[in-house]
Amino acid sequence: MKVLKFGGTSVGSVDGILNVKRIVESQQDRAIVVVSALGGITDKLIAVTNIAVAGDKTYQTEFASIITRHKEILKAVTPAVKHAEIAAELQVLFDDLQTVLTDVFTERNINLQKKDLIVSFGERVSSILIANVIDGAAYAYAPDFIKTITSFDKHTLDLETTNALIHSHFPHLPKVTVCPGFISTDKVTGVITNLGRGGSDYTAAILAAALDAEVLEIWTDVDGFMTADPKVISKAYVIDHLSYVEAMELCNYGAKVIYPPTIFPVYHKNIPVIIKNTFNPDAQGTFISRAKDVSNQPIKGISSIDDAALVTMQGLGMVGVIGVSKRLFGALANVGISAFFISQASSENTISIGVSNAEADLAVEVISEEFAFELKIGEINAVKAEKNLATIAVVGDNMKRIPGISGKLFGALGRSGVNVIAIAQGASETNISFVIDTKSLRKALNVIHEAFFLSEYQELNVFLVGTGTVGGGLLDQIKQQQPKLKSQNNLKIKVVGVADEFNVLFRREGIDLNAYKEAVTKEGVPSTPEVILKGILEMNIFNAVFVDCTASYQVAALYKELLLHNVSVVAANKIAASGNYANYAELKDIARKKGIKFLFETNVGAGLPIINTMNNLVNSGDKILKLEAVLSGTLNFIFNTISAEIPLSKAIMMAKEARYAEPDPRIDLSGTDVVRKLVILSREAGYQLEQTDVKKNLFIPQKYFDGTLEDFWNNIHEMDAEFETIRQRLEAEGKKYRFVATMENGDFSVGLQEVDMRHPFYELEGSNNIIMIKTERYYDYPMIIKGYGAGASVTAAGVFADIMSIANIR
Ligand code: ADP
Ligand code: ASP
Ligand code: MG
Repeated sequence: MKVLKFGGTSVGSVDGILNVKRIVESQQDRAIVVVSALGGITDKLIAVTNIAVAGDKTYQTEFASIITRHKEILKAVTPAVKHAEIAAELQVLFDDLQTVLTDVFTERNINLQKKDLIVSFGERVSSILIANVIDGAAYAYAPDFIKTITSFDKHTLDLETTNALIHSHFPHLPKVTVCPGFISTDKVTGVITNLGRGGSDYTAAILAAALDAEVLEIWTDVDGFMTADPKVISKAYVIDHLSYVEAMELCNYGAKVIYPPTIFPVYHKNIPVIIKNTFNPDAQGTFISRAKDVSNQPIKGISSIDDAALVTMQGLGMVGVIGVSKRLFGALANVGISAFFISQASSENTISIGVSNAEADLAVEVISEEFAFELKIGEINAVKAEKNLATIAVVGDNMKRIPGISGKLFGALGRSGVNVIAIAQGASETNISFVIDTKSLRKALNVIHEAFFLSEYQELNVFLVGTGTVGGGLLDQIKQQQPKLKSQNNLKIKVVGVADEFNVLFRREGIDLNAYKEAVTKEGVPSTPEVILKGILEMNIFNAVFVDCTASYQVAALYKELLLHNVSVVAANKIAASGNYANYAELKDIARKKGIKFLFETNVGAGLPIINTMNNLVNSGDKILKLEAVLSGTLNFIFNTISAEIPLSKAIMMAKEARYAEPDPRIDLSGTDVVRKLVILSREAGYQLEQTDVKKNLFIPQKYFDGTLEDFWNNIHEMDAEFETIRQRLEAEGKKYRFVATMENGDFSVGLQEVDMRHPFYELEGSNNIIMIKTERYYDYPMIIKGYGAGASVTAAGVFADIMSIANIR
């Protein structure tokens, strides 16, 4: 025979119940079908009770909605001719429930017994409903044979009595028997009790063990036991096989898919458990048995409890004293508190235990009482509870044979800035559990899942500020590359935040790049640097990259705080790398210490691999002696474009229209842009300098830069004639103008140079850049990097390359 358990998720909807009917009716073996209350009903019954006990009449409306929901489902899942009869059967129960609720409402009083009675109706009603849905089903009333004993307001199973009663209740087994889960009766008083929230799984396991079932099937709403809660980790996937111990550890630490005590009875009888999906019965599901795992996977799953408190007792008085633990746990046991986490420092001077938030104060109280004397004489410091913590368990039988798991685990958490408060590892080495702040739970789970599971893909979460030509181009490129990156590189780039000039939009699940502009406008909130920073930090997301495609000082000012929170930074914005040296050095230093990245390759030469190449040279022991470069795509374009027909002012306008120039072209013409670039390159070459250390030989008089941008456009044509004269002379001499940046012997300068045909800078088309790097190794023949030095698409591609290089750190 088999025991099949259908949870509230399975019997909570018309579709679900019809699937249950199909699944049960197609069974070959004899079966006991254990059912939960309709999904959400137990919670609703508790809520109604709370409303009634507060003396609030609206409990009636809530109660009425419970009745309506059952009646509607009943109509949809049973033939019309039976409606009245079944409805009458259910109504008897609802009338009983009404009487209890009325009592509670008038007396404004509730006790455990009444609470238990009220919640029992969920399963009593659902089981009768389902028994009527399944053709030819018999009915068994679980409270007749599932017996509990009660201490500290908690019910525990009386195994012996229960087993005996089950045997006498089922001398012969009908083809199908429907039985309510969860509910039971007190062995002594006979009043209704239950097996605890989620207890239907346990009812099913108790029956399976008592009747020596071949298998226990737990039917729910997911394809099986998964590597993590799929509601938190979208990439979690189904585990084919788990050992009983693994399943037990995962459930104990919050994997809701099975109620923890469930494993115990079936483990003893060696009955396999299969987790199956009512809504996808063809999926193989998860098989839990004693069989050895053939996979070499060190970790099978992660689970977590987010309602934890850590109670810590500390003091030198505990060192080497025998019996401290005994007294501690004795005190807790006396009030029925069980600790799910214990960690003791080897010096024995602290013991920390994990309990639920609700039990934390009581735990502190009873421990303080037990150790009152030691506290008084100062051998033990005060006992303290730290609340609102989360406990994570990483589980796998294979861990014990594979070294380095903890290192990898805590390394990954550290890199993501998750602070671990306490750690415990069982001697069985099947479980490493640790405590963190609840705020970091989602991130921690994601980080661990990423680090250990050969998930189909790795995820990188991108925040982009600035959707102009570069930022917009980048989003287009990411959109185009997304499918290929996912299929070929197992990398999912998820854009989780976008800010344009006006608004910022955050979406943990990712923003649709086909329609990001509209989404940011319609669904975003007004954007300020503070709002952006707050939004990112609050999202507290793992593998996060902040991409700055603005030219804004305020945005650049956010980098430090972001890096400190383990968010990598990719900047197309040159301000941070070329600004104050101390700030630049600090940003690099934070990134290095945190194991994340601060990248700005596109600050110089757009997409050309200049900074990266220089870093590689320096890191491999070379020394950069001299740099000579044409670094302004805009200026080069202008000098290449000026002709008899095109005067200077027109060439400037054309550079702007081609979007080579900075938003304000004066930044290019004044040499500021080239100075910034030279500063960045020199710093990366190992020199400590500020922009003021660079000598400038300007070719446009300062007065054109002093007014407004409008003044500039109005007046710049005054320079046309002078430039035409120079142009004619240069043409006659076979020379060209190049705006060259130079670093040599600690001297930094930018200025116009006339170059003839023999100079490598002579042939430099359009807006191209060129850089000559003279090093100890590349001495006689300096290295030359040359190519497009401006333009939105190459710059966007360079930013993309920086983002990709972050994806590759593990
Ligand atoms: P039922 O009503 O069938 O008892 P539950 O809601 O009690 O269903 O349990 C199923 C839910 O457990 C899933 O929907 C899922 O969100 C949650 N869950 C938590 N951890 C896991 C896990 N590791 N694998 C599968 N499901 C999990
Ligand atoms: N209905 C009960 C609960 O919601 C028991 C169960 O679903 O297993 O906790
Ligand atoms: Mg459940």
